[in-house]
Formats: sequence, C-alpha cells, structure tokens
Amino acid sequence: MSTAVLQARGVRKSFGHTEVLSGIDLDVTPGETVVVLGPSGSGKSTFLRCINLLESLDAGRITVDGRDVGYDVRNGRLHELSPNEIARRRRDIGMVFQQFNLFPHMTALENIVEAPIAVLGEGRREATARAVELLAEVGLAGREKAYPRQLSGGQQQRVAIARALAMRPKLMLFDEPTSALDPELVGEVLATMKRLASAGLTMVVVTHEISFAREAADRVVFMDAGQVVEQGTPEQVIDNPQHERTRAFLSRFL
Ligand code: ADP
Ligand code: MG
Repeated sequence: MSTAVLQARGVRKSFGHTEVLSGIDLDVTPGETVVVLGPSGSGKSTFLRCINLLESLDAGRITVDGRDVGYDVRNGRLHELSPNEIARRRRDIGMVFQQFNLFPHMTALENIVEAPIAVLGEGRREATARAVELLAEVGLAGREKAYPRQLSGGQQQRVAIARALAMRPKLMLFDEPTSALDPELVGEVLATMKRLASAGLTMVVVTHEISFAREAADRVVFMDAGQVVEQGTPEQVIDNPQHERTRAFLSRFL
C-alpha cells in the first residue's frame, strides 16, 4: 500500500468570527489528479494555502509525504516548526497561482533556475539543463531568453508551471491557474496541465474549467461553505451529483 502524498484531516480555519474551513478531510495518492470545484468564497484558496503553510490551521492536521506540514511530532506531542523548517517543508509543494508572478527583469530560463540554485544549491549547469527540459515539457522549447513581457499570459503561466516543477515538488497545487487569462489562451495552459497529469504528477487543481475536470481528474471534490460536500469520479460528481448544492453549482456551467 502506498502512502498518501497529501492527507488532510479535520482541517478548520477561521478568520475572526467567520469559519472558512469547517473540517476538511482529503487524501491524495501518488500520481493522482484531484480537481476541486466550488463556488467563490467556499474556502478553496484557503485550503490550498493551509496545505502550503501560507496559513496556520486552527484544528486538524495536514501531512505531505507522511510529514506534518506545520508541526513536528515528538514524544507524541505537536511542536511548532521554526521558520527555516517551514521553508524546508514548503519546498516539497509547488504552487501555481492565478497571477503568475514571474520576475519581470529575468528571462524565462533565469526565472526557472533561480530557486533550484539559490534554495536547493544545484549547480548552474545542472539547473540550466533541467530548465531547458522543463520549458520543452510545457511547450516552450527555444524560449529560454524571452522576458515575461515578451510572452503571452498563457506562455507566462507555463513558465510559472516550469518554475514550480524545477523544485521537484512531491505535490503541485494549482489555484485557478487560467482565471486571469484571455479565453483564447486558456486551452494551452490546460493542455500542459493535462500532460503533467498523464505523466503522473500528483496535483490538486482548483478550477472552474469543468471540461478539464472531466478529462484530467481522477477525482473531483465539490466544496461549499468550508466543507467537502461530495467527491468521486468526474462521472459521479459532474454527471450524477448527489447533492442539491452540487447540482445548483454545476447548473451554472450548462
Ligand atoms: P475561494 O477560494 O473558494 O473563493 P477563499 O478561500 O478565498 O474562497 O475565501 C473563503 C472565505 O474566507 C471568503 O469569505 C473570504 O472573504 C475569506 N477570507 C479569505 N482569506 C481571508 C483573510 N486573510 N482574512 C479574512 N477573510 C479571509
Ligand atoms: Mg480562490
């Protein structure tokens, strides 16, 4: 039996008096692509931010590759991690946001090699060779020297994906990666993500792209009001939803 790459148990998070996550349980197994659907404000981004240690948990636990993301367990007790150790554990998790946030003064290649060299201590030659490969993987072979402003939004987002992959993450999180793109550029980013999913990357993808969920997801999770309302295969959740809230949400896409 393989261990889950991601295991979330009873995750709760409030901002002030508002509970945004009300006990989320989710397992993601190696190679699995999980698509999270849900209305705006349902807590999807907050959940991803908790996985990536950008938010602390009020209750519950999250492990990535079998290790608590924000705590150490010693003598059966949870101990908060030092900022250094948090940074170290965050390296296992790649994140791609709606806004690609590339460094504007660096070329595509420089954007990709920066963290592997600075954070992982890879040699420049090795990091560069890998960045060239990664650019080819995201369909941007030959664009090593392009600056972000010379690339379309879809190309910039694919550089951002390559940059995240350069850290060799065990888990990739995508938070509405195509929401900021012009409609004609969405397809190329989704196609890249589909290829990564087929290649066995372990991914959690928050998106409103129902067709992507249908074609790429091993499992679809529907979230509403800080809870997982239902989950299953794309056929189960998208074509045969069991809950009224899921049906109401999906009816907007018909
Ligand atoms: P989703 O990604 O599903 O649209 P979010 O996780 O972004 O939802 O937000 C869930 C709720 O939490 C929203 O009501 C949002 O306003 C609130 N929220 C998110 N982040 C913060 C924050 N840092 N402080 C206060 N409220 C927040
Ligand atoms: Mg969001």
